[in-house]
Amino acid sequence: MAKKSMSADGNFNAISAPDYLPLAQLRDLQLQRLQATVQRAYEHVAVFRERMDERGMKPEAIASLDDIAKLPFTEKSDLRDNYPYGLFASPIHDVVRLHASSGTTGKPIVVAYTQEDIDTWSSVMARCLAACGLHRGDIIQNSYGYGLFTGGLGAHYGAEALGATVIPASGGNTDRQIMLLRDFHVTAICCTPSYFLHLIERAEEMGVHVNDLPLRAGVFGAEPWTEAMRAHIQQGTRVKAFDIYGLSEIIGPGVGIECECQAGLHILEDHFLPEIVDPATGASLPEGEAGELVLTTLTKNAMPMIRYRTHDITSIQREPCACGRTIRRIERIGARTDDMFIIRGVNVFPSQVETALLSVEGTLPHYQIILTRQKGLDQIEVQVEVTGATFSDTIGAMEKLQAQLSHAVENTLGLRVDVQLVEPHTIQRSQGKAKRVIDHRNEGA
Ligand SMILES: [Zn+2]
Repeated sequence: MAKKSMSADGNFNAISAPDYLPLAQLRDLQLQRLQATVQRAYEHVAVFRERMDERGMKPEAIASLDDIAKLPFTEKSDLRDNYPYGLFASPIHDVVRLHASSGTTGKPIVVAYTQEDIDTWSSVMARCLAACGLHRGDIIQNSYGYGLFTGGLGAHYGAEALGATVIPASGGNTDRQIMLLRDFHVTAICCTPSYFLHLIERAEEMGVHVNDLPLRAGVFGAEPWTEAMRAHIQQGTRVKAFDIYGLSEIIGPGVGIECECQAGLHILEDHFLPEIVDPATGASLPEGEAGELVLTTLTKNAMPMIRYRTHDITSIQREPCACGRTIRRIERIGARTDDMFIIRGVNVFPSQVETALLSVEGTLPHYQIILTRQKGLDQIEVQVEVTGATFSDTIGAMEKLQAQLSHAVENTLGLRVDVQLVEPHTIQRSQGKAKRVIDHRNEGA
């Protein structure tokens, strides 16, 4: 594809050009690509064809972008039910790469790429990194896991397509990561936000101060995080923290990215068409209203995804971004319907707890939510680390902080919550996605 022939100088413009397409041209391109994708899926994916036939629909029914609402949804269960190759629209000899989810529940989900799909993925990831202000000359440490997970290789190919220098550190081995950060003069890092917190904490212990390093950008994703967490990172370091969005079912990382305005995530919608639907009824919602994000791939060959239900709650922003990109933005994803838990009839998202905790001075962004059931009644306990200085403070001061935190969390959730202050380093650090909720409610029941 074109990236290899891009001139090294001024490649930012060449890489980012599709972000700025005139709107009419973008919508035309999307419609053309949507029609081709529906046609391809109808011809090659039996499940999709059956669902279309059940509705008496042919691919020709898609005459405008709004017609997408007539198409059937795809759910994660469809990927499991058609494991491993049932949703492929390309013969296996055209597939050059497979990735799979870890499969914590049941069978993993498998995703496939043709060479053209890999090139698309590299180009969208390069655009994402460019939107964060990265370019040729940057040294990018990629601490997403390499392997079946899409994070590592997705970011890797994107950084190379950008023309940057990529260090394939992968996840884990924190002390070595810190040595690489320092010795290789790393300017940007890709990892989960919780792992970055762990890195800077460990670096301090090793006598390496992040603010003495040339590190200036973090591209953080693969787990939900909050504005409060961003503020914590940006106030404590010189690292500008960008939110990146993606999911394996669609392509991997590279579906959406914050630009330097940090005001919502631009969806690379020349490749991924976003819709917002009512999570309960599936009805399309107008631009600006919050609901579940549904994505349709517009250029994927090996595994087109039509109206994929992400279970991520967000809205599409109506206003154009100050950066001038014409591709639309979604609100930062604070909640996934999958992460939500119900306690005493109240819907709770871990991100609500995070925001409440970080609103109080003296806490660290390391916390865990523990759910138990006592005499048939659900209990919620939040353990949060407090700074060393706070922890060695007087009992009176600790009690005051505990009361403040309980008040902040209870106000947000509308529930009585038991907040426990714990010493720094009490809560287990993750090498990848942080485990925020431990649910003991159905144990021994
Ligand atoms: Zn922007």
